[in-house]
Amino acid sequence: MQCPKCAKFLKLSDISEYQVKGTQRHIQCYHCQTWLKNSGVTLMLKVIAFYVCAISIGVGYFMAEWRTITTPIAIMALIATLVSHLMDQWAETEAPKNYQSKSSSE
Ligand SMILES: [Zn+2]
Repeated sequence: MQCPKCAKFLKLSDISEYQVKGTQRHIQCYHCQTWLKNSGVTLMLKVIAFYVCAISIGVGYFMAEWRTITTPIAIMALIATLVSHLMDQWAETEAPKNYQSKSSSE
């Protein structure tokens, strides 16, 4: 992934400062110390759309009489998955509240 502030590439395995709350993630760029966050709603939408797509393909495969319904649902869910994947970007933000640095607490 790429930092939107300094445009340098980040390796997720090298990030030491982060906070995860459900689908809402905060990370700190180790080049410019900028805090970045993703949209928890977008990530949730992506996961839901992916499973709707997978389930309707599965139902359509095993139950041929359902295919007229499941095929358009699968196509719409696939589009929703791709769109929400494109919308799932990191944005600049403040450091999360009540955040304690992992490196300084050790
Ligand atoms: Zn950066």
